[in-house]
Amino acid sequence: MTRLTGRGVSPGVAIGRALVAVSEARQVRYRLASGRVDRERQRLRAARDRTRQQLEEISQRVARTVGHAQAAIFAAQLLMLDDPLLTRRADELIRAERINADWALERAIEELHDLFAREGDAWLRERAGDLTDVGGRLQRNLRPARDPLVDLVQELEPPIILVADELSSSVAAQLDWTRVRGLVSDAGGQTHHTVILVRSLGIPAVVGLGGATAMIAPGQSVAIDGVSGEVIVDPPEEIIERWRQQAEASAAQARVLDELRDQPAVTADGVRITLEANLEIADEVHRVIDAGAEGIGLYRSEFLLDPATAIAGSEDEQYEVYRRLVEAMRPRPVTIRTFDVGEERGLSTRGAGNRDRFGVRGIRAALHHDERFVTQIRALLRASAHGPLRILLPFVTSADELRVLRAAIDEAARQLGGTLSAAVGAMIEVPAAALTVDQLARYADFLSVGTNDLIQYTLAVDRTDDRLAAHYEPTAPAVLRLLRLIAVSARRAQCPLSVCGEMAAEPALVGLLVGLGFRSFSMTPAAIPAVKRGLSGLDSREAARIARAALRAPSADSARALVDPLATLMHSAG
Ligand code: PEP
Ligand code: MG
Repeated sequence: MTRLTGRGVSPGVAIGRALVAVSEARQVRYRLASGRVDRERQRLRAARDRTRQQLEEISQRVARTVGHAQAAIFAAQLLMLDDPLLTRRADELIRAERINADWALERAIEELHDLFAREGDAWLRERAGDLTDVGGRLQRNLRPARDPLVDLVQELEPPIILVADELSSSVAAQLDWTRVRGLVSDAGGQTHHTVILVRSLGIPAVVGLGGATAMIAPGQSVAIDGVSGEVIVDPPEEIIERWRQQAEASAAQARVLDELRDQPAVTADGVRITLEANLEIADEVHRVIDAGAEGIGLYRSEFLLDPATAIAGSEDEQYEVYRRLVEAMRPRPVTIRTFDVGEERGLSTRGAGNRDRFGVRGIRAALHHDERFVTQIRALLRASAHGPLRILLPFVTSADELRVLRAAIDEAARQLGGTLSAAVGAMIEVPAAALTVDQLARYADFLSVGTNDLIQYTLAVDRTDDRLAAHYEPTAPAVLRLLRLIAVSARRAQCPLSVCGEMAAEPALVGLLVGLGFRSFSMTPAAIPAVKRGLSGLDSREAARIARAALRAPSADSARALVDPLATLMHSAG
């Protein structure tokens, strides 16, 4: 038994067999059932043939256009391709160890690199570069267009615990989470879209483990606790039994909370609070309804984009999705956020960086004449004919932007005959927006605070960087002051206001937000019952008193210490 500890980010316990996915090297490692061996060997042969064909073509082209001496490089690579220690060795590994082709190839390449390094021969050492080239080409050719994880999950015996170094939200959105029962990842933080997604699906997750993919072998039995962050490899029977009992107890607790489903959320002193739900996958709308949400406060439409190309479906395809959502929720409102893309959404910082995070993102893409925007707006306006639909614009930084986009939306409505319309709101998720709520309110029918990004941009703490997780602090003085300013400014401007960031899913922080003046929240469906129960034990005047004290607190920790008692107060409700 090995015990690892990470950050529990999605509650619940899960036990299953590990599927290890290492995407840094685009590798997925798994052990094969005997019937699968031939298929993997065939995949390897096909990749070798494709590689050979490519190298021959390149070699001929280079000989024609550059010269025979340069073409010789590729001739050498062709020879290497047929080296018994490369593809033949990988083939041998597939058969002998029953491992997938990608893993076998990775091993063969490593062995050969070791050999080159050991030989001490200068000529051989120089071949290491060629080996990297040929090996990389082979690996790329082995990879199918679709992420292999998606198919793999279908083939392995459930329950599966996915152990990944990083997992992009677009791949996560395609996985069958009825088979994958838990997620463990090396990277990750509370507000990654992948984490947000698994939380909304009720899949336990532990992130920020650093080296889980190196320490857990494919096929090993793994138990995870998404609250404590414990990951136990090869757990003994008594732990499995104890955790099973815990899971049953929390399921029973959840059933008790179910009784609150149809009741409105009201604080102990009678203040009515609106609770709506966030949604990532349209087909999961039943979770929103089951949780008793009063509407959808945030549908993250970028989950509709093609994972590999970020291309959107046609206007008609999108219209169908939006119409179905609106019809499923009617008469409750559905808030659809336009595509918020441009940011690296994976469970990692690798390959992302400032360029993406500060780049042509959210509505900036629309302002850069991204034709996806107009298509989406037309589909949204058409769907608005079927029920209350609100359009939410992400990453707004100025009233000017909002004015221009509203004009574009009005123009789209005019082109559609002039009878369709939808409320248009702005996300308040960067400090520039928080500081100009009075100006934004002139062009917005409603505002929604995205605390996930607001915290990131206010504190200069990349939300996708697990090394900074401890600095990602919702109760930091700067964040609290901005939140208070937003609440006061929106009230003065009489503009409806809600919070849809993850802060709204933690009861004590909801208590703080109520104290700061917020009255409407949107959160992952599973959090609604607990927040509702918590609110019933909260006196809004006491919350306001605590919020005032927290606003004066000199540090995130001291504000936390003031806010935490709210959890006890709210927990004892009901
Ligand atoms: C936010 O930034 O708080 C938010 C709700 O949007 P997302 O998490 O999709 O960036
Ligand atoms: Mg955001």
